[in-house]
Amino acid sequence: MDFELSEEHKVLQRAVREFAEKEIMPIAPIDERSRRFQRETVTRMGELGFFGCPIPEEYGGNNMGFVAHAIVCEEIARASCSLGVLFNTQTMGTSRALLEFGTEEQKRNYIPKLVSAEWLGCFAVTEPDAGNDVAAMSTTAVKDGDYYILNGTKTWISLAQVADTGIIFAYTEPDLRHHGISAFIVDMNASGVSFSPDQEKLGWRAAPTAEIYFDNVKVPANNLLAEPEQGFKIMMRCFDNLRLTAAARAVGNCQALLDESVKHATQRVQFGQEIGQFQMVQEVIARMVVETDAARLLTYRCAGQKEKGILNNTLETSMAKYFASEAASKIADGAFRIMGTSGCAGSHPVGRLLRDAKMHQIIDGSSNIHKMIISTDALGYRKANR
Ligand SMILES: Cc1cc2nc3c(=O)[nH]c(=O)nc-3n(C[C@H](O)[C@H](O)[C@H](O)COP(=O)(O)OP(=O)(O)OC[C@H]3O[C@@H](n4cnc5c(N)ncnc54)[C@H](O)[C@@H]3O)c2cc1C
Repeated sequence: MDFELSEEHKVLQRAVREFAEKEIMPIAPIDERSRRFQRETVTRMGELGFFGCPIPEEYGGNNMGFVAHAIVCEEIARASCSLGVLFNTQTMGTSRALLEFGTEEQKRNYIPKLVSAEWLGCFAVTEPDAGNDVAAMSTTAVKDGDYYILNGTKTWISLAQVADTGIIFAYTEPDLRHHGISAFIVDMNASGVSFSPDQEKLGWRAAPTAEIYFDNVKVPANNLLAEPEQGFKIMMRCFDNLRLTAAARAVGNCQALLDESVKHATQRVQFGQEIGQFQMVQEVIARMVVETDAARLLTYRCAGQKEKGILNNTLETSMAKYFASEAASKIADGAFRIMGTSGCAGSHPVGRLLRDAKMHQIIDGSSNIHKMIISTDALGYRKANR
């Protein structure tokens, strides 16, 4: 296991950081306030290959790998967690799902358009009564000749209302419980698909989120992903990939909070000196530095394993996702204390970063779910699946 990034990774990191600082940081606060989705920036990110790191060149990717994906995601999320969401919708929840489970025709038809961001994608599991308990979903897909007829409601789906295509999970054999779920590639502009207004959120406000209503939607049978009733297996693999992205996004959030804290601690003078000179402030900064770096290293380990072909590294993925999510909230708390009244000002970035930080704890598997995975592995109750 390497603990130093390669020269290639460092060059990538510098390039993405430069892009994020120039193109995203100046507009992110305005977009968050007005809840504006930056379609133009997403297009630019697609053109620059940001969504194609774990995708082979033959499908429009750049094949730079999972560590590169984590680096790009962290740097973008450092500038905007809202834009960090796109690494789920364009890469892990759609393109990688298609790459790992799609037919050759499906791969060629969808992946290049998603990687280039010509099309936007979404990935829909969650329903009003099915949060972490995914098997409680009630959306159904009933076979009718050459079609499946899709009915049901998905909620809290990132990018739903602006997506061109989606990976949608539904029961084809409800009696089989989670063994009866299938996955479909669905045209989000098809007749019978409609959306709620944008769901207002605590954080990530510039990333659209909506409910999706499927009302007798005709999905061509050849839009089934893999075999019927393989949906749960596909979903679990996608979760392992999505949660790497989620960890990297939280690391970006941690770094942004640390950057703001250091800036303020070295600028604000009280009692005749920079507040960073006070040991109690230094203690908070020290914890922030270590927790950010520990979260980053867990994320790189997880990405590095996937790069070596260990795609079902559920334990290490949960460790990275859990630690990074909790670190973001703790660091946000410390940053808020260091900021004093400056952090309370509506226009100060730390308020947005703090609201963004809370989101990591509940999305892409809540911290409780990840603690369950980690502890049941340690206790021997859950068998490692590799
Ligand atoms: C901004 C945003 C974007 C999202 N994007 C998407 C998306 O693109 N696609 C998608 O499918 N979903 C998406 N989601 C949904 C997200 O993944 C869910 O919020 C998540 O599944 C958690 O479900 P829930 O909020 O219903 O929590 P619940 O499952 O109701 O959990 C509530 C609480 O109970 C705890 N809990 C639940 N079960 C257990 C258990 N067995 N043991 C211990 N504690 C437990 C949880 O840890 C949590 O603290 C998004 C959500 C948000 C807010």
